[in-house]
Amino acid sequence: MTAIDNLPPLREVIARHDLRAKKQLGQNFLLDLNLTAKIARQAGDMTQCDVLEIGPGPGGLTRGLLAEGARHVLAIEKDARALPALQEIADRYSGRLTVIHGDALQVDPLAHLTPPIRIAANLPYNVGTELLIRWLTPPDWPPFWQSLTLMFQKEVAERIVATPGSKAYGRLALLAQWRADARIVMMLPPEAFVPAPKVHSAVVHLTALPQPRYPADPAVLSQVTAAAFNQRRKMLRASLRGLHPQIESLLQDAGIPPTARAEEIDLERFCALARALQAARQGA
Ligand code: SAM
Repeated sequence: MTAIDNLPPLREVIARHDLRAKKQLGQNFLLDLNLTAKIARQAGDMTQCDVLEIGPGPGGLTRGLLAEGARHVLAIEKDARALPALQEIADRYSGRLTVIHGDALQVDPLAHLTPPIRIAANLPYNVGTELLIRWLTPPDWPPFWQSLTLMFQKEVAERIVATPGSKAYGRLALLAQWRADARIVMMLPPEAFVPAPKVHSAVVHLTALPQPRYPADPAVLSQVTAAAFNQRRKMLRASLRGLHPQIESLLQDAGIPPTARAEEIDLERFCALARALQAARQGA
């Protein structure tokens, strides 16, 4: 029995349900329940929230979220082998855990969630990045979620929180920081997981802002940042040439030297450029 919930230790759960980690599902499990409770605490106060957890696996983080007081957890897991172990947790926390067997990239969880909603996950990195981009680019803002607490490969986490002038700075940083506050709240060494991955990991916590930090049309901003960072070593007057015949004067209008490179330009200036470009296209 473990101190946090009187359920058996995760090693025993994994052995009993034969949950040997499968590489193709990106399975690197967290077995230390003190650590999963600590990660759960990074999500903030969950007592009045529904928490969407993606990829619960044997349930380490799920148990952390429930022990830390989440009102209700909706967990989406692709691997059917994990379902009996998750059922034991659902039985222990009567009415507070719902499990959906499916692919998080296909399932729409909204029908099963009551706001306010927080999201927490330790996911395979490719799925995590794809979901993060989806969660950051809904048609309307604010989104359905209040906060995201997500484990990433350290290098991806650094790209999310990067600032101008750094190597990691690029489209992911701009996307995340335009409409959310993003910070790294924990670093984890490979040995924290079973089996241990090759890389270090980090937990990123993002809080949705009520509105974007600076006004800009999402599609135009995305077009500008894609063109700028696809040729990040070129001067902006060259990399953005295809966007508008008068790009040099639009750059100047936005307060950007035409000889600057993408990685030197902050979010505020990129938003100013997106607005100038949109106005020029509309003939303003
Ligand atoms: N949350 C558990 C933990 O912290 O120990 C497991 C983490 S493991 C890195 C990733 C989990 O995501 C696995 O249980 C895997 O089966 C699940 N998974 C992988 N791809 C998925 C997908 N597309 N949809 C839902 N779950 C997925």
